[in-house]
Amino acid sequence: MTHINEEYIEEYIRSILPESLGCLKELELYAEENHVPIIEKEVAQLLKVLLKVYRPKNILELGTAIGYSALVMASSTDEECKITTVERRLDMVDMANKNIDDTEYKERIKILYGEAEEILPTLDEKFDFIFLDAAKGQYLEFFNSCIKLLDNKGIIMSDNVLFKGMVASDKLVIRRKKTIVKRLREYLEYINHLEGYTSCVIPIGDGVALTYREE
Ligand code: SAH
Ligand code: MG
Repeated sequence: MTHINEEYIEEYIRSILPESLGCLKELELYAEENHVPIIEKEVAQLLKVLLKVYRPKNILELGTAIGYSALVMASSTDEECKITTVERRLDMVDMANKNIDDTEYKERIKILYGEAEEILPTLDEKFDFIFLDAAKGQYLEFFNSCIKLLDNKGIIMSDNVLFKGMVASDKLVIRRKKTIVKRLREYLEYINHLEGYTSCVIPIGDGVALTYREE
């Protein structure tokens, strides 16, 4: 129960989605058994549609984990599309590399090991699609580093922005998550009022925000 959608809505939407194939299915099972917070299936579906419409050529992801979302992105983009993904846990980097090496996408996905806040300033290329899915308390800092790397008319997609519904209601906030919730609220306020950008919040999965850079 995520407190974002009624359970019956979420269950219904998931029930009509096609089963994932091959290694994606295996990674979903692994993530469920080992509590790795990969994107929910309906979020993966949104990501796929967006990428097919938008056809980015250079994607940046913060938060690789086991490589699931990177593989979803690779499978929904053209052969020329490169994906750079940043992860701070070495065990995750190793596992993701292993998962990706087994696929036809291995040439297109590059994993950078380290803290996103340290790696972002060292990148000197532009990205046209950025997927933010790392430490939620740092989204605003990540966003400000990311927009320096974002092409005109680029998109930033941020995952988990409603954080189990806590962001939308004080009644749901548990004490040790107070700071993260406060920061996520500040983040959503910020991206929704930033000049030159258009944002929306979509209540699926754990909450997704999309931000479009006008120019
Ligand atoms: N995008 C993945 C899930 C990522 S889970 C998927 O949907 O398949 C979030 C990951 O972000 C975790 O593996 C965590 O180690 C990593 N992370 C958190 N904060 C980070 C930071 N500051 N820099 C780099 N990685 C970070
Ligand atoms: Mg996430």
